[in-house]
Amino acid sequence: MANAESRVFLQGGSVVDGTGAEAFRADVLVEDGMIAGVFRDGADSAVAENAKVIDASGMIVAPGFIDMHSHSDLALFRPEGVGVKLQQGITTELLGQDGLSVAPLSKEDHEEWQGRLSGLLGEEPRDWTWETVSEYFDAIDAIPPELNACYLLPHGPIRAAVVGNDDVPTTPEDRKKMGAMIQRGMDAGAVGFSTGLIYPPCSYADREELADLNRYAAEAGGFFVVHMRNESHRVLDSFEEMRWVSEKSGCPLHVSHLKVAGLPNRELWPDLLAAIDDARAQGLDVTFDQYPYAAGSTMLDALLPKWVHSGGVEQILERLGNPDTRQRIFDELTTPESSGASENMYARSGPEGVMVTWVKSDENAWVIGKDLQEIADGMGEHPAVALMDLLLEERLAATMISFWGKEEDILPAMRHPAGLACTDGIYGPHPHPRLGGAFPRILGEFVRERQVLSLPEAIARMTSKSAARLGLSDRGVIAAGKAADITVFDPDTVESRATYEEPLRPPRGIEYVLVNGRLAIERGKPTDVRSGKVLGPGR
Ligand SMILES: [Zn+2]
Repeated sequence: MANAESRVFLQGGSVVDGTGAEAFRADVLVEDGMIAGVFRDGADSAVAENAKVIDASGMIVAPGFIDMHSHSDLALFRPEGVGVKLQQGITTELLGQDGLSVAPLSKEDHEEWQGRLSGLLGEEPRDWTWETVSEYFDAIDAIPPELNACYLLPHGPIRAAVVGNDDVPTTPEDRKKMGAMIQRGMDAGAVGFSTGLIYPPCSYADREELADLNRYAAEAGGFFVVHMRNESHRVLDSFEEMRWVSEKSGCPLHVSHLKVAGLPNRELWPDLLAAIDDARAQGLDVTFDQYPYAAGSTMLDALLPKWVHSGGVEQILERLGNPDTRQRIFDELTTPESSGASENMYARSGPEGVMVTWVKSDENAWVIGKDLQEIADGMGEHPAVALMDLLLEERLAATMISFWGKEEDILPAMRHPAGLACTDGIYGPHPHPRLGGAFPRILGEFVRERQVLSLPEAIARMTSKSAARLGLSDRGVIAAGKAADITVFDPDTVESRATYEEPLRPPRGIEYVLVNGRLAIERGKPTDVRSGKVLGPGR
């Protein structure tokens, strides 16, 4: 029997249906988790019977937004959940990013990976009950979360399970074992395979290994998501490497958080977009995602040279404590990026361009929200020394924002036809403002204020195009028969209010959000309804 809980009638709104089409006036009926009807000439009064009626006049009715790069893998389990995503109108997140996540992962490896991932994924829950991918999915469904989740199989734990965390090559035999894990994960309902080629142990893989592994993902209908090996002075080489992997494996390519980092490298932006155009013109299936800011956020230890990461947490701490290796780290950090083959985020951003956003201990909590220069001044040390001391004291459990470019440079990518929207949000007491503000910022700042792209185009990048990438044929569009993930917002007021100084201020203008047909946000306030679930093939 239908009741007001399961029937919602959105009356008088302007529908931007996600396909890129212009807005049209229509009423929308939601029933039992599905969009039951879209009435362009208005529905007759019988349709709204027994339904909760919402006055959507003056508002945009759009498909629920899809966050193509999310780090909520563990945050979903926190008592406070991921409301910071929901408040932006996001109804589905893509987890398992950068080759770094929590399944598949055997019990014996939990402790090492909990330590290693805390800067990226947070500390809760302390008890991981799962080992396999399907057990992880069951654990998510059992919460249940505020919004839906899709999952990428992470290269890191899969590589570590077969050859450990050292800087070693893999044999064809090793790759078969890794491939079997990918196959099992895809069977469980994952949508693709991810790697992060600045993060060990993913960074130890060469292009042949990546092509071999991607064949398994491609065979199962998945796609390949990559944080490229170099996002600065060697970004073009890195894209070529990924293009080669995609061609060789036949696996569709999706580049994470597209950027050209470092002001001296700004001129590479047009070449990077041209390289993407060229690959697409040759018939390769290439997309990317982008957060609408010119600063990034990740684990603080990503500033350290690559060789320092070999082994595990204990070996890294040993190198940070040994006078000889400390000196070598210091020398490399303070050498300009352009003189080396790999990225040097520390040299590129400078100590003033790195803000610490989380540390584990209470004793060092004073550094949160400060840049490395300020922290160094507080310690009476050189900033590179302060960085090493802080990582040592926190046992690597620390997170940062790094400022990498100029905002005007990100606009052509925002307009590019292969571009999709993401937050890349990382949780913490003083996070990057993208965590709670990325999607409203696109709608307020870049659509309404600066008219970088039209509203239907922006919505398509947040919805139907992303759903197509994920293989979610029943989402991303407002049409009868589709799943009822819907976001209703005021186009005149929608905006992010989160800033680098005050990153936790909630956005404005997101009025109603339905997840699988249930109202999760009503009149701008969360309802405590949790109706999300894991989405993917066979789930
Ligand atoms: Zn990321």
